[in-house]
Amino acid sequence: MKPEGAVRGTFLKGRQMGLIVQKFGGSSLADPACLRRVAARVLETRRAGHDVVVVVSAMGDTTDALIELAHQVNSSPSDREMDMLMSTGEQVSVAVLSMALHVMGVEAVSLTGAQAGIRTDAAHRKAKILRVNPARIRRHLREGRIVIVAGFQGLTPLDDIATLGRGGSDTTAVALAAALRAERCQIFTDVEGVYSADPRVVPDARKLKEIAYDEMLELASLGARVLMSRSVEFAKKYGVRIEVLSSFVKAPGTLVKEEVADMEDIIVRGISADQDQVKLTIGHVPDRPGMAARIFRELAAANINIDMIVQNTSEQGITDISFTIHRDDQPRAREVLEKAARSLKVRHVNVDQDIAKVSVVGVGMRGHSGVAYRVFHALAENNINILMIATSEIKISVVVRKKLADKAMRVLHETFSLHKAPRRPAVKKGARNARKKS
Ligand code: ASP
Ligand code: MG
Repeated sequence: MKPEGAVRGTFLKGRQMGLIVQKFGGSSLADPACLRRVAARVLETRRAGHDVVVVVSAMGDTTDALIELAHQVNSSPSDREMDMLMSTGEQVSVAVLSMALHVMGVEAVSLTGAQAGIRTDAAHRKAKILRVNPARIRRHLREGRIVIVAGFQGLTPLDDIATLGRGGSDTTAVALAAALRAERCQIFTDVEGVYSADPRVVPDARKLKEIAYDEMLELASLGARVLMSRSVEFAKKYGVRIEVLSSFVKAPGTLVKEEVADMEDIIVRGISADQDQVKLTIGHVPDRPGMAARIFRELAAANINIDMIVQNTSEQGITDISFTIHRDDQPRAREVLEKAARSLKVRHVNVDQDIAKVSVVGVGMRGHSGVAYRVFHALAENNINILMIATSEIKISVVVRKKLADKAMRVLHETFSLHKAPRRPAVKKGARNARKKS
């Protein structure tokens, strides 16, 4: 996408204020009362002197209900028709939110993704945004309107409606913010921000003031449900500042932004757990060059995303390979592997559902040693067995038994004292600045 030139701001009381994109999720739009509250919130931003573009999801559980409906009619509906169906949810939202604003005497206009100039590729149900032509949105803004755009949808090269994957309205919002060079992209949701861990599991989890794109990306793809990970990739690429905040409680949220030097002072920013993985083990694999390549080529061809991979040391020329995938991909992966097993002379494929992946994430890991040791030690002290390990520069993930995942999160949260406000090392201002430059 080519971000277009800056949007001309509105002049109010002599001050030029920027454009804000605000996204409201399904739970914030569950019923007419919710809609009125959202309208009031939007109006408030407008009255503060901002131009406002609003992106909305489908009301409440509408998308789930639509999927359910489809399956009652056809057990394997075509992706194109599913998109035609699912995109209606957001279309309801934009129309009624606009009506709610009209009642308040505000000029607002609703747009579908197509009307808003959002073009996607042709991958129905998981389309990627290719371009945004914000000319029409700009025109409405110049006319003094609040523009309300249906999230989660766009138009393919064949002019069909495509959806962006579950949770895709976040990506719509960030893409519009990028294209319009918005000052900020606010994601309103049913939690108050991004937490150091899921507060339902770790009661003393803290709301983070800020988090770096890379940390948020890890946490989002690791199962923290606040933002769709693609939206974070987008934000990182185009430098869109995202603020995650509650649509119910008025409190500052969490800023997702570019990394700055002193973010590395904090070793671990957050902990997440992914309960949606399964572990597959291919037993009795001949230990020869090219075996792993052949196995994973088959899986890649079937569009199956692999997460962690472990190959055991081989004994007498035989080894086994374990890896994790999303549980939805399990039937397909099994099919692929069983077919491949015959030609590859692999013995058996074993599926382990009883796993969860717990990860600690922080850009500070780059500059600190001993983090892995602290993770393993803390888990050992608490009798939590580790089944698999994977690391990146800013993350350590372990696979544990499902029932131990919550405990592991609490233990690690405590180990890294995440319940306490981060203490920055006492560095004098001058010294910190000097370090930043290096
Ligand atoms: N309504 C869609 C979903 O439920 C898109 C979204 O909420 O962002 O996945
Ligand atoms: Mg939703």
